[in-house]
Amino acid sequence: MQIMHNLHIVQHPLIKDSLTHLRNRKTAIQKFRHHSDKICQLLFMEPIRDLELKNVRLETPLCKTVGSKLIDEVIIVPVLRSGLVMLFGALHLLPKSKVGFVGLERDEKTAIASQYYWKLPPITKNSIVIVTDPMLATGGSLLYLLRQIVPKRPKCIHVVCVVAAPEGVKAIEKEFPDVEIYAAAIDERLNDKKYIVPGLGDYGDRYFGTE
Ligand code: URA
Repeated sequence: MQIMHNLHIVQHPLIKDSLTHLRNRKTAIQKFRHHSDKICQLLFMEPIRDLELKNVRLETPLCKTVGSKLIDEVIIVPVLRSGLVMLFGALHLLPKSKVGFVGLERDEKTAIASQYYWKLPPITKNSIVIVTDPMLATGGSLLYLLRQIVPKRPKCIHVVCVVAAPEGVKAIEKEFPDVEIYAAAIDERLNDKKYIVPGLGDYGDRYFGTE
């Protein structure tokens, strides 16, 4: 199998445990949401590991000391609709983040993405952009989005997903080798409807209860 240099499978027992609940078709909606929020927060810890800090002076009740303050500007871009589910946990970790919205719809037959909504904050050379899409299947929606964001030359772009398919990861790596992808698992393949197998079904439907 071709090595996927841009893919990081985030290793943690809590991630494996939550993913097992998400995969199980018998998991009810409230439990699905609980494990989705939990796994998304755990996954997010990895791409923000290298956020820049500056020293700040402060006083504890005992003495003066020096602490650290985040200085990087993070922009979270959930790919609607299912990317939204990752936003809730991400904003708990990074409450000062800006959020950009991109609505892409994929054609059920061709899996080609088309845009129905677009509202992004200004992206500068100091921005760290984190795109969220829980199921990286063909990569069509992400490629569409990255083609708009990469030319703005942010400091870096990360993609966070829950489950990735080899097809999607390879497509992103081929066109955007500098974009790092963080996932809980890479699955076997896509089926003829472009769903990830074994996967967990339609993430948005299971999280929002629209099955
Ligand atoms: N989107 C999903 O929600 N599930 C898949 O398996 C593929 C795309």
